Amino acid sequence: MNNIKYCSFPETPKAALAWLLSRKAEALAVAGGTLVAKTLPETVENFVNLKNLPLDYIKKQGADLVIGAMATFDDIDNSKLVRGWAGGTISGAAARCSSQLIRNMATIGGNIARPHSFNIFPAVLMGLDARVRVLSRIGVKTYLFSDIYGGDFKLRPGRDCLILDVIIPGKTRNWVCRFEKFAKTEASWEAYFTLFMAAAVKGGVVKEVRISVGALSPKPFRAQAAEKALSGGKLTSGVVDAAALEFARDLDGVRASEFKKEAASSLFKRFLNGI
Ligand SMILES: Cc1cc2nc3c(=O)[nH]c(=O)nc-3n(C[C@H](O)[C@H](O)[C@H](O)COP(=O)(O)OP(=O)(O)OC[C@H]3O[C@@H](n4cnc5c(N)ncnc54)[C@H](O)[C@@H]3O)c2cc1C
Repeated sequence: MNNIKYCSFPETPKAALAWLLSRKAEALAVAGGTLVAKTLPETVENFVNLKNLPLDYIKKQGADLVIGAMATFDDIDNSKLVRGWAGGTISGAAARCSSQLIRNMATIGGNIARPHSFNIFPAVLMGLDARVRVLSRIGVKTYLFSDIYGGDFKLRPGRDCLILDVIIPGKTRNWVCRFEKFAKTEASWEAYFTLFMAAAVKGGVVKEVRISVGALSPKPFRAQAAEKALSGGKLTSGVVDAAALEFARDLDGVRASEFKKEAASSLFKRFLNGI
């Protein structure tokens, strides 16, 4: 923080990007500032404050739900549109962020810009097949959310590109979803694990299923063995038990402790039995 020489307040994403790419001084984008304030590298000289960017919208675009990068957890929690999506699970997840003070300041863009195991939205967006619009020197490009955490994504959000918004596909609007943050207290940022579970069931048959797991590794992951065990099947008690066994194997892949495995499996079964 001692080395900050400039603060810029751009009013368009293009102007913000120009500051980030400027050779004049090493720059970093600041949205709500809740994470940056704790992790600012000493070499940064220019704070590029994003607060004036018109990116705090939450809207429907065609069939999709679009959430601007500057929308805060509180905006998302209280949006009527988001509350009506996926049974209110996205709003419910936003409400699980540790405290009202943080929810007022923290943005969805800042939450996903860098992988952090305890952050809420990465697991949620991975489970909703979300896409992310990113502005960089090559223009605006849309990526699958899971791709921006992949090895092939070479951009550094907040350094050489800006997240503009997150697009949640229309197909998820009526999915049955559940978000679980299993933590010591409601006010903890740290969690033993987070779980985002979603299913589209027709005539008793599971047409689509997504299970994404956070907090057990730096980046969230999909529990693919469990998803495979459920996909295309009827939700009988036998299928649920078999899927829970596969889910435990998925968790073995990240060396989850017995305690976490047992708790996560039980919440997983509760979700399936409640559909
Ligand atoms: C006490 C405390 C409790 C917390 N509790 C929780 C919790 O319960 N759950 C949770 O998920 N998180 C929690 N957090 C983490 C943090 O608040 C969130 O990750 C938050 O969403 C970050 O958003 P921000 O707008 O404050 O980002 P900032 O701190 O402003 O920025 C974070 C990073 O994102 C980059 N960035 C921001 N916006 C953009 C953009 N549009 N495009 C590209 N890069 C961008 C910045 O350059 C920076 O590298 C907590 C943090 C603290 C300090």
